[in-house]
Amino acid sequence: MVLRRDSLPRFEAGIKELINFGPKNHLTLRLVTIVVPCFNEEGVVTQTYNALAETLYPLPYNWEIIFIDDGSKDKTVEELEKIHAQDERTKIIAFSRNFGHQIAVSAGIEASQGDAVVIIDADLQDPPSVIKEILVKWEEGFDVVYCVRRTRQGETFHKKFLTKVFYRFINKLSEIPLPLDTGDFRIMDRKVIDVLLKMPERDRYVRGMVAWIGFNQIPYYYDRPERIAGVSKYPLWKLIKLALDGIISFSKEPLKISAYIGLFAAMLSFIGIFYALYLRLFTSNWVTGWTLMFIMILFFGGVQLICIGIIGEYIGRVYGEVKHRPLYVVKKAIGFKAN
Ligand code: UDP
Ligand code: MG
Repeated sequence: MVLRRDSLPRFEAGIKELINFGPKNHLTLRLVTIVVPCFNEEGVVTQTYNALAETLYPLPYNWEIIFIDDGSKDKTVEELEKIHAQDERTKIIAFSRNFGHQIAVSAGIEASQGDAVVIIDADLQDPPSVIKEILVKWEEGFDVVYCVRRTRQGETFHKKFLTKVFYRFINKLSEIPLPLDTGDFRIMDRKVIDVLLKMPERDRYVRGMVAWIGFNQIPYYYDRPERIAGVSKYPLWKLIKLALDGIISFSKEPLKISAYIGLFAAMLSFIGIFYALYLRLFTSNWVTGWTLMFIMILFFGGVQLICIGIIGEYIGRVYGEVKHRPLYVVKKAIGFKAN
């Protein structure tokens, strides 16, 4: 059930009035955009909207919520349309297919009008009440407040372990320091958004891109609850793809590693060559080298494949970039001025 606007606490008008007569005398309230990527979230979106609206109504801001439906196969879009019918401050962008979480977030950012943009998951694992706290930090003058998970409930051991290892590993490799244990839950000032919009790369790792932009960034620590319904939309392969995007977009280190492996292998092969020559020239049992040869072939075959694989990953991404395809395809947009 969508909570009706007038059934929510009606602080809003009162607070607007207070502010108009208050010492700051704001004539217009600032606009905050909330970006919510949704993929097969029919069971949670209404509850998420209600929780967001409950948090936002009492605050002295104008606000809009942009839901991005990332090609859901269930009734997510229908649920979102019902929400929009009740509250015209919600907007919907529906993709023509599943383009992925990071692209969905990027589409929401692109469509945002706010002086600040908050990115939040649809499953209420990022508690909307935190928005109040990070808005305060934003008002204090911070350009990015990124939420760091102090604890994570209801997540599998392998996911917690993998993400812990991943964030530390990527930080070692990355050319810029990336915050640890951070998702996309954050608030960003318009000036950060403007830079983000000029970064057209398609293998997007939004949290890394924001770290790269710089300005005044601080963490905000929170405890992450379990998702309220449905299952995680991040199977292992999507996590690995995200990890690769994170590493490859922010580090050329793997290319260097492949060069080091190559160098090490070349040195070993020199020893092998000298050894083979020695056997051939100064001894009579030179057929016996086959074991070494066998090992060497296997070893170099492996090393070459690893190096080609690493280089291939980078070339594949260059290929993706030069195609200049649009990042996503919109099937339906609801609530925007043009329609
Ligand atoms: N999501 C998306 N597209 C995808 C996968 C996920 O838009 O291909 C959304 C999903 O609906 C949720 C957010 O991204 O709002 C985070 O996904 P999820 O909660 O499944 O990830 P987890 O919290 O398990 O890491
Ligand atoms: Mg989740």
